[in-house]
Amino acid sequence: MSAGGPGRPQGVIMRPPDGQVYRFDPGALCLELLATGGPGEFARFETLREPSDLAAWAVASRLGGCPGLTVTEAELASVRDLRDALFLFTADHAHGRPWDPRHLAALNAAAAAPPLAARIEPDGTRAWTPGGTGTQLLATVARDAVDLFTGPYAPRVRECSAHDCFLLFVDTSRPGRRRWCAMERCGNRAKARTHRASRATPKDSATPKGTALPKA
Ligand SMILES: [Zn+2]
Repeated sequence: MSAGGPGRPQGVIMRPPDGQVYRFDPGALCLELLATGGPGEFARFETLREPSDLAAWAVASRLGGCPGLTVTEAELASVRDLRDALFLFTADHAHGRPWDPRHLAALNAAAAAPPLAARIEPDGTRAWTPGGTGTQLLATVARDAVDLFTGPYAPRVRECSAHDCFLLFVDTSRPGRRRWCAMERCGNRAKARTHRASRATPKDSATPKGTALPKA
């Protein structure tokens, strides 16, 4: 799990269709990639449409930007493919289901390539040696996933508890009781729902999970 610079707010800015803009910190670089879209019905949230979108994501993510990054269309397609595999892999993990060997193979193949080269700037911040490639970026993300899923926080990888939110995060808090993608998003929505339910008849408050698409 790569750390950003000191004092830099972590996570990615989410812009769901309903217009609420909020910061979502999934707790790890590899999980930040999952917020860019996903497989199947999640394809409508796609934000990696052209190579420059990946460079913009790198700036907003824990990578903190990769100067001189070059990304080909083929590399972008590989990033989207791995993201979709990692999305399903992470969801399986979060729900205690066995890993799909195809997702594991895709992750390991991406991790086998040389990653971006890290360096220390004179001011003490971490940076990346200029001129990295999309393949190196993907390897860096995949290796972060290897570290996450083999590390001490692997049991803390979860899906947001909101019935209509499928965002995935790792809870790195000391108490380990994080339930929401973001308190300002699903946490507050749940509080409002509980408040309404307490004033409504029981049948008004029942909302089965899985009937709505994600809002993120
Ligand atoms: Zn949520």
